[in-house]
Amino acid sequence: MNIVEVTGLTVRYAGATALDGVDLHVGAGELVALIGPNGAGKSTLVKALSGLVDPAAGQVTVRGRLAQVPEGREMFADLSVDDNLRLGGWRNGRHGRDTAGIYRLLPALDGLRRRRAGLLSGGQQQMVAIGRALMARPDVLVVDELSLGLAPLVVTELIGHLRTLHADRGLAVLLIDQNARLALGLCERAYVLEAGRVVLHGTSDRLRRDPRVTTAYLGGP
Ligand code: ATP
Repeated sequence: MNIVEVTGLTVRYAGATALDGVDLHVGAGELVALIGPNGAGKSTLVKALSGLVDPAAGQVTVRGRLAQVPEGREMFADLSVDDNLRLGGWRNGRHGRDTAGIYRLLPALDGLRRRRAGLLSGGQQQMVAIGRALMARPDVLVVDELSLGLAPLVVTELIGHLRTLHADRGLAVLLIDQNARLALGLCERAYVLEAGRVVLHGTSDRLRRDPRVTTAYLGGP
């Protein structure tokens, strides 16, 4: 069963076409990557998944719960980590849900409960953003630019958490990232978006060996 199904999706902004007939799906418990250069339409696709933009054509179907880890993390800087997590539950209609489960899933957050989110490092904030999204007990997590501005070691740690959530909870992930090496490393399948169109898709193994991917996204053959 597909949790996310996008068919023929076209989105236009004031005449400019941001997405042009995009087909994409994420199966239950699947790890899927979406890569592409700046302006390819990745953020627009994320917005369409959450219903924040109206398609000019095509369809978005989400079966089950979808939660987002937004680009830029969007913390409430003056609130504690714990309050940020609770607000995640509130935003997702699960106000008052216990945060204990999140600390079990992401033990690194446990010692940071009372800290002001705005004073955390980028990696710690990204972890809060993941925890906040998990408050909704999603079937699929849409992670927008996980690696942006973070040190490689921190990114490796966050990827490890996503792997564990996938393995232990059957969480499906749609990972959108400009870092193709990272995205293909985590995910089983990937889509390459360029100028609003899916120009390539397939297993990560196959894409890693495709000259069009190695040249444009992996820094040469
Ligand atoms: P980046 O990696 O730089 O965030 P992206 O792949 O997420 O890029 P989008 O932000 O989805 O790309 O943008 C796709 C296209 O739509 C771009 O040409 C962009 O300039 C245009 N666009 C995005 N948002 C708007 C908007 N609100 N109004 C008009 N044009 C927009």
